[in-house]
Amino acid sequence: MTVPSTRSQLTREEILGARRRHIGSSLSVLYREPLKIVRGSMQYLYDETGREYLDAVNNVCHVGHCHPRVVRAAQEQMATLNTNTRYLHDNLVRYAERLCATFPEPLSVCYLVCSGSEANDLALRLARAHTKGTEVVVLEGGYHGNTSALIDISPYKFDGPGGTGAPPHVHRVVMPGPYRGPHEAERVRDAVQESARRSHRIAAFCCEPLLGCGGQIVLPEHYLEAAYGYVREAGGVCIADEVQVGFGRVGTHFWGFETQEVVPDIVTLGKPIGNGHPMGAVVTTPEIAASFANGMEYFNTFGGNPVSCAVGLAVLDVIEDEGLQSNALTVGTRMKDGLERLMSKYAVIGAVRGMGLFLGVELVVDRKTVEPASTQATEVFEGMKQRGILIGTSGPLDNVLKIKPPMVFTEA
Ligand code: PMP
Repeated sequence: MTVPSTRSQLTREEILGARRRHIGSSLSVLYREPLKIVRGSMQYLYDETGREYLDAVNNVCHVGHCHPRVVRAAQEQMATLNTNTRYLHDNLVRYAERLCATFPEPLSVCYLVCSGSEANDLALRLARAHTKGTEVVVLEGGYHGNTSALIDISPYKFDGPGGTGAPPHVHRVVMPGPYRGPHEAERVRDAVQESARRSHRIAAFCCEPLLGCGGQIVLPEHYLEAAYGYVREAGGVCIADEVQVGFGRVGTHFWGFETQEVVPDIVTLGKPIGNGHPMGAVVTTPEIAASFANGMEYFNTFGGNPVSCAVGLAVLDVIEDEGLQSNALTVGTRMKDGLERLMSKYAVIGAVRGMGLFLGVELVVDRKTVEPASTQATEVFEGMKQRGILIGTSGPLDNVLKIKPPMVFTEA
């Protein structure tokens, strides 16, 4: 049986039936009553009945769903030319220059890819080529992508349902708690020493500057500075996974790592970079790029094509022209203050945290025992949807409400 082709719109039931038949069932759908979304505009999504939802969770459509400037840039370039990076084209170098200009020295060389996973996968290759090491240190609860190599360094996956634990070359470190200090970085030192004891050379420490899947966690001050010190001392490189938190979302800075006053050796980008167009990037130092250039070409069929670069440029233009980083700070701070005020009214709120428009609300059964209130988190998630607002849940215990809206979110 196929889905009816005579009607322009399929019912939710028809879509669910066809998904069951043709889409691998390892993919899930949000909500008890799944949503059919047919249109988006800035911070709003619309279902097939025309009902409007305020989108407080999709961080990919960074400058707003279907932002007209991004759409126009894609349409115009797509109607003119789309090829690959083996031909000379203005867009590739214009974009590379603009993107690299947002980073501190010596981060000045980029590779353009098609997803956050491709970016992290390439970052691992760069790290291994440069250090000749194999071992990787990651934080518990971390997720870095869907390739085989990245599932291996994603405790969120390998320690979760269907996972088979950490492979021998991967060392996971406990997540620093929001109330603890930079001394937590000593766990990174322990992991580095552990791999040295096994006489295996460390390749990389891979960590998000603010933890997404880990539960919207802001790292303690100086945490990365200390951790990077231990890793570099042992000859490893430091990868900052900015796939979720980059491009001004944290409000005070353009990049999450800047809030920790460090300069990584490799930075990986995804999600917001193309406002929904499949893009990713790796930014690194000339030295690491030189180590990787060992004669084997790195070619990416779609990465860095003229359309993607036009989209990437439009996204950077909009962030700048519409002042979206400072908007994230103003609106995010206002929202965080409001959420904190709710703590005096609702004992279920154990903690409110985050920066800019990257916020988390941790729900607990009891503030003293911090027993996770996962069921309540699901109820809030569902209840918000019934009221027309889309949020997410995250964290290893699934008790953290996740708020990371398009950056055009307003105080209203
Ligand atoms: N890194 C982080 C921190 C992510 O959150 C994700 C996606 N959730 C990825 C990497 C992988 O990106 P993608 O799904 O675009 O491959």
